[in-house]
Amino acid sequence: MALKNHYLSELLRATIQRNKGEPEFIQAVAEVFETLEPVIEKRQDLVEAGVLERLVEPERQIIFRVPWVDDNGKVQVNRGFRVQYNSAIGPYKGGIRLHPSVYLGIVKFLGFEQVFKNSLTTLPMGGGKGGSDFDPKGKSDGEVMRFCQSFMTELYRHIGSTCDVPAGDTGTGAREIGYMFGQYKRLTNEFTGVLTGKGLMYGGSLGRKEATGYGLCYFTEEMLRANGKSFKDKIVVISGSGNVAIYAAEKATELGAKVVALSDSAGYIYDPSGVDLDYIKQLKEVERKRIKEYVSLHSDAKYIEGCTGIWTIPCDIALPCATQNEIDKKSAEILVKNGCFTVAEGANMPSTPEAIAVYLQNGVLYGPGKAANAGGVTVSGLEMSQNSARLSWTFEEVDEKKPQGSLVWKVTIWQALI
Ligand code: NDP
Repeated sequence: MALKNHYLSELLRATIQRNKGEPEFIQAVAEVFETLEPVIEKRQDLVEAGVLERLVEPERQIIFRVPWVDDNGKVQVNRGFRVQYNSAIGPYKGGIRLHPSVYLGIVKFLGFEQVFKNSLTTLPMGGGKGGSDFDPKGKSDGEVMRFCQSFMTELYRHIGSTCDVPAGDTGTGAREIGYMFGQYKRLTNEFTGVLTGKGLMYGGSLGRKEATGYGLCYFTEEMLRANGKSFKDKIVVISGSGNVAIYAAEKATELGAKVVALSDSAGYIYDPSGVDLDYIKQLKEVERKRIKEYVSLHSDAKYIEGCTGIWTIPCDIALPCATQNEIDKKSAEILVKNGCFTVAEGANMPSTPEAIAVYLQNGVLYGPGKAANAGGVTVSGLEMSQNSARLSWTFEEVDEKKPQGSLVWKVTIWQALI
């Protein structure tokens, strides 16, 4: 991608030079710079104040050793990260990703995106992100607990309810947050809102589990409505089958759509009569099994190995909710050829720059993750408010607090900028 603005193109060159071997971070920065070109042309004051130079350098980056003992009594060592990206408008806020692909470049790209997403919520939250190359898949509860406790044994000294409030992300759900919160409490002797996504019995918020997926559908419905359309009677394909995907599927179905496909990192299921979400929840949330098990109960559905094939299924609306760069140019072209007219991102940066170009060239309604998946961190912000006030709101109270007015603004501003 070539930037026309000389200042932005020089700053991108310097950023690439300074962050070698971190392609995801560079991709995220380049994408934002491209959208900011018209702004920078008009706002010399931002250039003079070095705002963008500050934006491409996190305030603090912490890397630490995470030793833990597996079920065979062997010591394992993982690497932990916390990137405290920007605290200009509030405490650092952003999830913890547990996945073997995690390295500094992934955590920096996620932290960078989080800065913009959090400010779009209109809540006072800065941006941060953390994680580890630990893989919770296939580990026993005891192994996950020992890893999480060791992770927090280092992280606790860097976080706090007014300084940095981590949450869940890929591989980090209520179980992992529970182990981390318990260890934080034990180390500090303080019961504070230092993590969000907590269990309901100890400071969690109703609606947090559903928030990212539901928020994605609220955003998408708003975007569709602004264009004279809706979810009703539409065919929807959703990648992933984790927290975001499951609750996006639930809300899309409630809004009248038919969700026909879901995936995991090994393959995808296609159920033309509409996926059985109760069974998916049982498989993924309770039994922690693979998506291919779905066809053992639903023999009419198909399971296909590999991830990218899911985008060849004809659909009206695609909701990528798995991981970064899961839709490339070729997949985007197939989606468009098959009649898909809306792509809204539940995952962070799931579309490559070339895929985004295909959406825009073909008039696809496109909801970038920074805005479309902000529902999760919004309810995390509301969980922080409830913890500070020592209150628990009902689901309806939380759901009603979604920033209604700003949704349309978000759609408009992002469509204007891309
Ligand atoms: P989960 O760990 O709950 O689920 C992730 C899902 O994506 C799993 O089904 C996983 O399959 C699948 N997946 C992972 N990697 C790949 C891959 N390479 N190809 C296909 N599928 C893959 O994570 P979340 O649902 O919480 O997060 C999903 C995305 O949403 C991430 O990008 C995250 O950053 C983003 N997000 C999450 C928020 C939240 O509140 N949780 C908030 C905002 C954004 P498998 O089990 O095989 O690994």
